[in-house]
Amino acid sequence: MNESVSPRSAFTKDSDQHFEAVRQRDLTELYAQRAQRLQKLAQDHELADYLLLAARVAQAQAQCAEPAPAQRTDQVLDVAQTVQAGQWLQHLTAIIKALGANLPAELNEALIQLQVLADAEKIELGQYLVQAQFDQVPSALAPILWAALSLELAMVARRGAAVKPEQEVKCCPVCGGLPVASLIHTGGRQGLRYLHCSLCESEWHMVRAKCSNCGDAKAVDYISLDTEEAAIRAESCNHCHGYLKVISLERDPEAETVADDLATLLLDLALAEEGYGRTGLNPFALPE
Ligand SMILES: [Zn+2]
Ligand SMILES: [Zn+2]
Repeated sequence: MNESVSPRSAFTKDSDQHFEAVRQRDLTELYAQRAQRLQKLAQDHELADYLLLAARVAQAQAQCAEPAPAQRTDQVLDVAQTVQAGQWLQHLTAIIKALGANLPAELNEALIQLQVLADAEKIELGQYLVQAQFDQVPSALAPILWAALSLELAMVARRGAAVKPEQEVKCCPVCGGLPVASLIHTGGRQGLRYLHCSLCESEWHMVRAKCSNCGDAKAVDYISLDTEEAAIRAESCNHCHGYLKVISLERDPEAETVADDLATLLLDLALAEEGYGRTGLNPFALPE
């Protein structure tokens, strides 16, 4: 999708395109907003405990995130290499420390088992996650490992070149990760749709009313749990039978992609019943 966008021009506005192809928000601000939104959505929610745990993780990520440097390099993000380098293990330690006590029993148990692993074994778990081999990683641990990995990849992504030239349309042009959901913007980007990366927290532009998985524009439909004007709808496709949620800031200015996607798992259940498969990933609801 971004074939025409060179690494250097991805962040600048040119005459044909009055908006950025790729956006990368400040991480501390992004994670803090996510934590706050998760706390708000947890009120009277049936998954309140889990949303509050996710909020604690996001808060820990906010504390660990370092600001992007003023100058970018031309270095393209290499996910496998970044995982292998193991910097993210420091974030893992910091996130686990910040989570403190009073954790769910299953997570507590998984963290105790994690403690005895060598760094190389932890790195191996990280490689499984970025290769989407989720069955190789204990499910209670996966979101915590993902949080640390994702934070490091997001920081590295903000230091280097914006896009890889050869990425599949449905994947993040910066790291190749899958989207969480689409976000419809307001303000200076009024009405524009960006997909939010589940791994490096970049957003990439895609035209609306088109399947983000297969590119089909004729067979998309919008499904919501309440009214047609709902802020969160599923964009389903009758061509590839996939779906991804569309979250509208026009309809709810406080929405945050990861938090609002996680808090609407009922919509995922409804889509699964209709026979549609999710084409994205939520860092806090990874497949098992
Ligand atoms: Zn990405
Ligand atoms: Zn499709």
